[in-house]
Amino acid sequence: MEIEFLSENDLIERYNEMLDDVCEPCRVGGIEFEPHRVLEELDPVAYNYGLNDYEDSIREDGVYSERSLNKGDFFECPECETLYDYEDEAKECCE
Ligand SMILES: [Zn+2]
Repeated sequence: MEIEFLSENDLIERYNEMLDDVCEPCRVGGIEFEPHRVLEELDPVAYNYGLNDYEDSIREDGVYSERSLNKGDFFECPECETLYDYEDEAKECCE
């Protein structure tokens, strides 16, 4: 399978977007706070647990991040630099 390899920042950005998508904005008086910021500030442990779960869940779609893996754990097509989880796939990519 073709691998999408995210930097840690990209992973966190996607996680934050997912949280903001599924949660209602938090309103205090007239001010609106983004859900991911509320969670991150008020319960950083839960925020991090959620991030770990999110990272696990996107692996099913072949999305990995440098937070827990190195690019060298995968095989790269020498032509186009697409990453794969098997060496044969990388060799056959641009042939
Ligand atoms: Zn290729």
